[in-house]
Amino acid sequence: MNGTDTPPPGALSTLSALPLDLSRADCERLDALDELRHARQRFRIADNTIYLDGNSLGALPASTAAAVYSTIDADWGVGLIRSWNNAEWVNLPRNLGERIGPLIGARADEIVVADSTSANIFKLLSAMLTRPAVLSDTRRRYVLAERSNFPTDLYIAQGLLSLLGDQYELKLVEREALAGAFDHTIAAALITHVDYRSGAMFDMSAYNQHAAESGTSILWDLSHSAGAVVVNLVADGAEFAVGCGYKYLNGGPGAPAFLYIRRDLQAGLANPLSGWFGHLAPFAFDTAYLPAKGIDRFLCGTPPILGMVALGEGLATFEGINLASLRKKSLALSDLFLALMRAQCGSLGFDSISPVAHVDRGSHLAFAHADAYPIMQAIIERGVIGDFRQPNLLRFGFTPLYTRFTDCWDAVNVIRDVVTSQSFRSPAYQQRHQVT
Ligand SMILES: *Cc1c(COP(=O)(O)O)cnc(C)c1O
Repeated sequence: MNGTDTPPPGALSTLSALPLDLSRADCERLDALDELRHARQRFRIADNTIYLDGNSLGALPASTAAAVYSTIDADWGVGLIRSWNNAEWVNLPRNLGERIGPLIGARADEIVVADSTSANIFKLLSAMLTRPAVLSDTRRRYVLAERSNFPTDLYIAQGLLSLLGDQYELKLVEREALAGAFDHTIAAALITHVDYRSGAMFDMSAYNQHAAESGTSILWDLSHSAGAVVVNLVADGAEFAVGCGYKYLNGGPGAPAFLYIRRDLQAGLANPLSGWFGHLAPFAFDTAYLPAKGIDRFLCGTPPILGMVALGEGLATFEGINLASLRKKSLALSDLFLALMRAQCGSLGFDSISPVAHVDRGSHLAFAHADAYPIMQAIIERGVIGDFRQPNLLRFGFTPLYTRFTDCWDAVNVIRDVVTSQSFRSPAYQQRHQVT
């Protein structure tokens, strides 16, 4: 497999130490020693399912159904409109933000939960580009992004730039060229911290430094980072960030997203979606829009309470969990999976495209294979759930709160079986679903 044969020196303490003849009993021992193994009880995962797609949709927390039901039954059903105050619905965007803060190194007044990641990119990128100091610096013509950035990030940037007229242009560069592309022509950069395909992770601190040195700012997309890798926004000099609630944060399908703006920058920024929840006094019902003082100005309309309550239960699955332990287990899981793929599927046409070095790797792995789509369909039918990404990638996410070491063992065995038996060649597995 590419990438795992020639690890850079010192990159791979765990993986290089893993013997090729690892057994299932070895994986059982790793599970028994795992200090996070109790956290799996916080989720409802069917016995016959090995779930390796928590990077795309986090598993269901055991407490979510009851919490959402109680919100519907008691807070809505009986409390009715009084629950905006009595059940603190109105404070949920800030309260949930305060709970996400420690997972990404943000302070309580710097983060709020609202809208989707796409909408938050629109709001923040617009605010960054319409600051007087940026607008008036006519040399700064470009919004810098990686060509292979997640599509919605690029689509939102394209839409925003066409609204702003011909002031700015999108400048797309290859990953390797990104660091060198920061200069006085850049108005803002839009960077995804952990790549959705390969799982490659940028050095946030180094990029913030490149941006600062060229007098510009980065909007970080933490969709594949929050709840999975250690993120220290404030300590690493980040100014703006957005991220997703339904991936590693376990908030449920379409969960509301979050946005972060460093404390000292908030006052000067304009939210282009100037809805009443971002108003200084929403219930004054004034005619003129006056932005709220702090991060609240980046709210827009009425928060979706059922989704917010579900996100709260997703965040509760992190209670008492040490982030360094979480990261350590995530890397141990992906190291194990890489080693098992090399040992058991090494001659079956899989190429790892994910970084080998720990500092460069997020919490998922991707393998290129000529038959990636039907292989993924075939293993899903056997209860091993990952996903397929264009053009030829099988993607597997490792969620330390509920993924076991034996899950890695069992999944790799199913993959080997499906390929060696050629069962993936069944025509049923060729049919493309709407969502892959
Ligand atoms: C998942 C993901 C999103 C999702 O955006 P939505 O608005 O929730 O659909 C955005 N950006 C990245 C990098 C993602 O991985």
